[in-house]
Amino acid sequence: MPDKIFKRHTITSALPYANGPIHIGHLAGVYIPADIYVRYLRSKKEDVIFVCGSDEHGVPITIRAKKEGKTPQEIADTYNALIKKSFEEFGISFDIYARTSNATHYQTASDFFTTLNDKSVFREIESDQYYDEEQKEFLADRYISGTCPKCGHPDAYGDQCENCGSTLSPSELIDPKSMLSGSKPVLKKPNIGICLWMNTNLGCASGF
Ligand SMILES: [Zn+2]
Repeated sequence: MPDKIFKRHTITSALPYANGPIHIGHLAGVYIPADIYVRYLRSKKEDVIFVCGSDEHGVPITIRAKKEGKTPQEIADTYNALIKKSFEEFGISFDIYARTSNATHYQTASDFFTTLNDKSVFREIESDQYYDEEQKEFLADRYISGTCPKCGHPDAYGDQCENCGSTLSPSELIDPKSMLSGSKPVLKKPNIGICLWMNTNLGCASGF
């Protein structure tokens, strides 16, 4: 079967998380294959752009920041610089290497949300959430660990068990523990307790 002809090509590859360095496994599995394909297209004089960037949002960054006594911004800045330099030194030929913290991404994400919200795609519900009484803070799903109710793995996260792959909610964990203090979290009503559900019930946009 002949290849489909594209007028132009946008190539991207998984955004590395800015909470640690990249290693040879990342390069071999993701970035080198994409780079080879991009170089092949360029050699054929195709119209191609190769785009990637650091993912600077999410719980793994805040967890590392707490462990190292730094701010999440300091962690993201440190590892973005390190990862960017590693890619340059390995010769990965991105046309653009950006960051998810760029203002344009905030604007785009906000536009998606407000457009969907204006169309009443979300349903507002209130729910209790685990609270760490020692740290005095509500816990995102990834800040809670416990025993998986499906396979008995002792270190499942509040959103997923990495042993059996089950998707979980924190209230399903047996013997939940706060990953911040190690204490047993209690269920409490958050001050701003709105959990937004897509009407399709795909999942909860948590982290309030
Ligand atoms: Zn499991």
